[in-house]
Amino acid sequence: MLRTTVFLISLLSLINCYADSRTTLYDFRYWTSPEHTRIVIDVEKGIKYDIDIKNKYINLNVQNAKLLNKTFKKIFFKDKRIYKTNIRREGKVFRLFFRTKQKYIVKSYTLKPNSKYKYHRLVIDLYDKKQTKTIKKVQAPTSSDAKKSKSKRKIILIDAGHGGEDPGAIGYKKSKEKNITLQIAKKLAIKLNKTKGYRAILSRKGDYYVSLTKRVRIAQANNASLFVSVHADSVNHKSARGASVYTLSAKGGSTKFAKQLEQSQNIVDQFGGVESLIDGDKYLNEILLDFSRKDRDIQSQKLASKILIEMNKIIRLHKKEPQKAGFVVLKTPSIPSVLVETAFISNPTDERRLNDPKEQDKIAQAIYRGIINYYN
Ligand SMILES: [Zn+2]
Repeated sequence: MLRTTVFLISLLSLINCYADSRTTLYDFRYWTSPEHTRIVIDVEKGIKYDIDIKNKYINLNVQNAKLLNKTFKKIFFKDKRIYKTNIRREGKVFRLFFRTKQKYIVKSYTLKPNSKYKYHRLVIDLYDKKQTKTIKKVQAPTSSDAKKSKSKRKIILIDAGHGGEDPGAIGYKKSKEKNITLQIAKKLAIKLNKTKGYRAILSRKGDYYVSLTKRVRIAQANNASLFVSVHADSVNHKSARGASVYTLSAKGGSTKFAKQLEQSQNIVDQFGGVESLIDGDKYLNEILLDFSRKDRDIQSQKLASKILIEMNKIIRLHKKEPQKAGFVVLKTPSIPSVLVETAFISNPTDERRLNDPKEQDKIAQAIYRGIINYYN
């Protein structure tokens, strides 16, 4: 009798232990960028996993995992790097196999829940080999570089805010800022590229995540002479409306509102793991030591004012004067940089406008006119 009880207790505890420690894989997302593919799995805290790479196979092994029926199909994904996805269960181990086109550099990490994602996330990045090697800290252009590029076409970096795993602000009717910013940025780039003497570079061309520091590096690597970041504003109440334009402030935001905004924009790197290539304060200090900073600030102000004048013709302004905030994306040394908050996605009327292709075109046209007027 005693032996049976002991046996039963241990059996029960085994079952319970098994049931308790089962971790749920809630959802799967994949994002393809020109340089990497990101796999994101919504998981439970304390997930036990390991990844082994064999030739063209990446195997993810998760202990005691359970899948949700509704997300089962989402596992099977193909893109230019992932050729095939398979799953297998071996005892308590759930195995996910990715057959890849070639060997990639694989990085994985977990992210905590935030305002946009309620679950912990397991992120697996597949980086193209040769492109990762070329990632290095780009030096600020020298004055002779600036002279050289002045004689050539004007290169404008158009930065569509957010992307991929980072949706940006979510609208009153649930539209995502990342989609709106990309649509406006693309329209703006087309207009600039049609204009003689101008060339637009997009920091992203699709729905994938680009870190803030990477955006700055793209501008530098392309010798851009202006940096224009496109965003849509959001606040907790739906009454705030209209456009604002920001320039970089060394001391951070000029108003409480700007400070909040800056905080929310700058923490977006938590969507993809923070890069340590550019250390925030050290980097900013370098800019402050840059003798051309004063000129750069004046030019940024001038660009912001020109854009505001044009925006005022098509949409009400939230702030009539250029605002100052310490956005990471505005920390491009030597080149005038502005961040345009095109309207409030949290306001139902503004959100409708932001989703309307004709209105997007008007906004792109206003920013375009602002840029052209700045140079004239
Ligand atoms: Zn934004």
